[in-house]
Amino acid sequence: MVAGEIARPVDVLVLGGGPGGYTAAARARELGRDVVLVELGQLGGTCLNVGCIPSKALITLAHDLQRARRRVASGSGLVGDVGVDLAAGQRWMDEVVGDLRDGVGTLLRGVELVQGTGRFVGRDRVAVEAEDHVEHLQFREAIVATGSRPAELAVLPVDQVRILDSTGALALAGVPDDLVVVGGGYIGIELGTAFAGLGSRVTIVEAADRILGEFDDDGVGVVRRRLDELGVVVRTATTVVADEGTAIVVENAAGKERIPASHVLVAVGRRPNTDDLQLEEAGLTVAADGRIVVDDQRRTAVPTIFAIGDVTAGPALAHKAYAEGRVAAEAMCGLPAAFDQLVPLIAFCDPELAAVGVTEGDARAAGRSIVVGKANFGVNGRALTMEQPDGLVKLIVDPHGGFVVGALIAGPSASELIAELTIAVECALRLEDLVGAIHPHPTLGEAIVHAARAALRRLDRGAVD
Ligand code: FAD
Repeated sequence: MVAGEIARPVDVLVLGGGPGGYTAAARARELGRDVVLVELGQLGGTCLNVGCIPSKALITLAHDLQRARRRVASGSGLVGDVGVDLAAGQRWMDEVVGDLRDGVGTLLRGVELVQGTGRFVGRDRVAVEAEDHVEHLQFREAIVATGSRPAELAVLPVDQVRILDSTGALALAGVPDDLVVVGGGYIGIELGTAFAGLGSRVTIVEAADRILGEFDDDGVGVVRRRLDELGVVVRTATTVVADEGTAIVVENAAGKERIPASHVLVAVGRRPNTDDLQLEEAGLTVAADGRIVVDDQRRTAVPTIFAIGDVTAGPALAHKAYAEGRVAAEAMCGLPAAFDQLVPLIAFCDPELAAVGVTEGDARAAGRSIVVGKANFGVNGRALTMEQPDGLVKLIVDPHGGFVVGALIAGPSASELIAELTIAVECALRLEDLVGAIHPHPTLGEAIVHAARAALRRLDRGAVD
């Protein structure tokens, strides 16, 4: 800050208008605080503008196309053919995003929006650089919610023409011929599956020895089967060594391989937006991975500054950011809030994968005794009428008391069904609670009851997995 610079006093300053920031701002306002939200781009952040929403719109387009074609091929009542017009799809996605952005604006009624890039210039000051001026704001309390951006690979510099990150891939107006997706995490698999569904020849290259590392093998196996059906080639334990312009060269234990690549999607993780914030001016340091260290109220080492969302540790997911936004705003207002919830993990691939709580693999690795109950969608009436029988529900149960401690769902609408099991784990429900609650018929949720019954049968036999 320039000495003597006049700063405008602000009660609560929120830096970043993504899911974390706008939730925190709205909650603080609701609790009676005067809030200024600083945003350099558009309200809604990564999630709304270039993440969750456009990706799910694209995925829906691709999955609907695939399902319609599968139904035509299976002779189950649909006839004719459908095609894809991605440019029209983009216009529809823009409308969806625009409507939701208006909704965020409504949510923020009473919050002052300041357009510009904020940087700390002191322990209680932020300078906001707008197009034609710089404004200094002096805050009582601040929340950092500046999110994250795609990580880069030196060998594949993103140009958003042929070498794309997720933002570039989501903006494509045409379907690539040969798409190489570098990175087999959820973003790479979601977008790779979507483009394969739309007609691209897709290869997924992953450096680790498996894709979707946060999900266990039962779930990933279901996704791998579908990727095979779609003709997606998956190369694990493989790294990119060069780009030849129309192909990329990868290397693994078998040697080098050239893979045709009209387009490349680099999806190798996300980096927190903390390096340009001048956090040191506020007396804040970051962890080795660039994330801001916070306590369970999302308070940083400086008690008047909080941090939430992708700039903090944990899964980089919008629903985590929402929850942290509420916690930070409430803690700041003196309410007894703490972030101690489970974060369900979701991959909107085909079929969807969702998990919450303890995984079977982690429980086994820790030597923890568990009972596992499984039910396949192949015997679920609703899944069969949807022609989506591949997949399962798996419950991980603590044998001492029969509490559900973890769950995995691979199958249609797994992203919706996991909410029930998140409540089950959060509220320490017993298997009897799940079985005793009537689940409507015919629904996918009946698979949860069947998995619970399977676990109960094992418990009754005294089995421990
Ligand atoms: P962000 O959403 O990144 O928002 C941060 C905001 O801060 C941005 O608007 C940015 O412009 C602004 N900003 C940054 N620096 C400054 C500054 N110095 N001054 C002022 N403003 C600043 N999550 C899910 O839960 N489900 C999904 O299905 C899902 N799908 C995804 C798909 C893709 C392709 C991607 C990329 C992400 C996806 N995510 C998903 C992740 C999700 O988008 C993020 O976890 C979420 O947006 C993080 O919220 P946030 O508020 O922490 O940050």
